Amino acid sequence: MNKKEDLIKYWIDENIVSDKRIIDAFQKINRENFVPEEYKNLAYNDYPLSIGEEQTISQPTTVAIMTSLLEPKEDQKILEIGTGSGYQVAILGKIVGKGGKITSVEIIPKLAEFAKKNLKKENITNVEIINADGSSGYKKGAPYDRILVTAGTPKITETLISQLNDNGIIVAPVGFDIYSLTMTKIIKKGKKRVKEEHGIFSFVPLIGKEGFDSRWK
Ligand code: SAH
Repeated sequence: MNKKEDLIKYWIDENIVSDKRIIDAFQKINRENFVPEEYKNLAYNDYPLSIGEEQTISQPTTVAIMTSLLEPKEDQKILEIGTGSGYQVAILGKIVGKGGKITSVEIIPKLAEFAKKNLKKENITNVEIINADGSSGYKKGAPYDRILVTAGTPKITETLISQLNDNGIIVAPVGFDIYSLTMTKIIKKGKKRVKEEHGIFSFVPLIGKEGFDSRWK
């Protein structure tokens, strides 16, 4: 068994991933296409890797957990905030398929370009990368069925939730300490917000208008 299959087997055994479409997406997408050349041989080690600009591609198991919590389905419209390497959106792109669409916002221009190049290697065509501050979401493409924030955020704002469809799901690592963020899932049910918490993670910070910057001003 190669390392990718080992990881997927671990996720299935541990009940981290069970949806067939999600498993299939992880089998098809190659993480080595989303890491810098010099780290290709480390692509299936279960830890984050540097992608330059002081940013990282998330640990594979973290991507698996977030993908499962998001419950992505075929034909959905999904927004990701924090494109980084593009690996997470490649997975989501495979899951939603030709009838779906992923929009991902990245604040660092060089990384937006890096992600576009990586997605081309996997022939992913249903993902649009926007170089902008995504801390207030991306209203132009709203409403979305799902929103995934892949940087640590001080809170899940109503601005973001307003860009979700009814019964939509948002997943984000939330808190003030980026080394101890609570993986939070909110399901929008009309005016009600159903909140679940799913463990502690560390992430690079969400910057920009409604990210950590606003706290430090
Ligand atoms: N999902 C990525 C990993 C994300 S790392 C992957 O699969 O590789 C977090 C990313 O969020 C970084 O690239 C960082 O530049 C970006 N980021 C931070 N603040 C942001 C903001 N306000 N808007 C958009 N992107 C942001």
